[in-house]
Amino acid sequence: MELVPLTDNGAKGKVYIVGAGPGDPDLLTLKAWRLIKQADVVLYDALVSDEIMELVNCNCEVIAVGKRSGKHSAAQEDINQLLITKAFHHKKVVRLKGGDPYIFGRGGEEVSTLVAAEIDFEVVPAVTAAAGASAYAGIPLTHRELAQSVTFITGHCKAGAGEKVKWQEYAQSNHTLAIYMGKSQASNIEAGLIEGGRLPETPVALVYSATTTKQKVVIGTLEKLSELIAETDIADPAMMIIGEVASLHQDLNWFLPQQRQSPQDIQHTSQEMTTAFNGDKLEQML
Ligand code: SAH
Repeated sequence: MELVPLTDNGAKGKVYIVGAGPGDPDLLTLKAWRLIKQADVVLYDALVSDEIMELVNCNCEVIAVGKRSGKHSAAQEDINQLLITKAFHHKKVVRLKGGDPYIFGRGGEEVSTLVAAEIDFEVVPAVTAAAGASAYAGIPLTHRELAQSVTFITGHCKAGAGEKVKWQEYAQSNHTLAIYMGKSQASNIEAGLIEGGRLPETPVALVYSATTTKQKVVIGTLEKLSELIAETDIADPAMMIIGEVASLHQDLNWFLPQQRQSPQDIQHTSQEMTTAFNGDKLEQML
């Protein structure tokens, strides 16, 4: 039996805060893939796609901590506590998060908890939703003629965390706004940006479930943003991309969601990769 050295505070394990990317399993980093294959326990949130969950080591404990199948999401404090508890009982604890853990993902809060509890950890970056939506919807976030800068911003602020976003301050032209969790704020975004001087006819894109077989893209204009959401019934998760670059979708779109590699193919690739790396090598690489 393998002897597991205890850290100073008695925890056996290490916690890996792992970004799962926006949904397409092919966008997982090799490190994320290795970790989910080797995990003793995986705590995952609602944004992690089913196809990625199919790749998780089937002998490990799997715990849903996000809103999925109508269940309520766990409070952040409970997730933090669970990470600590699991690190005391297991060697490899993987906290699998949608997109990148440090972009609107509360990864910082979870890592602060681990630091306070003196538990070893690593953070694995990933493709964030803005980058996934951009590539798979054919909307470059910057472009030499159309946008020299981009802001990643959330429409949703923590209750009581101070002032709401002043959208007027983000209204300069030739600038792209990649808005996470923006749907419920659409009318404020539209009014604030136009008030700040952004042209009402500025192109906007809504990208639902980017990079997955369910991806949908709708294009409209800033002045009709709320109408666009109401009319098209775009659900969550959705990225909002506002700026001149959204007009490029028509010419640069390449992704056909229904024709994406099937989960069976992905499982097959995954098996091939597992065979290609033998277990010892994987262990050393981690
Ligand atoms: N850490 C994540 C973001 C979490 S915030 C990341 O880096 O991507 C959750 C919001 O991200 C959603 O409300 C939505 O606006 C956006 N999002 C996440 N995954 C998405 C996807 N596949 N398609 C479109 N938007 C997505």
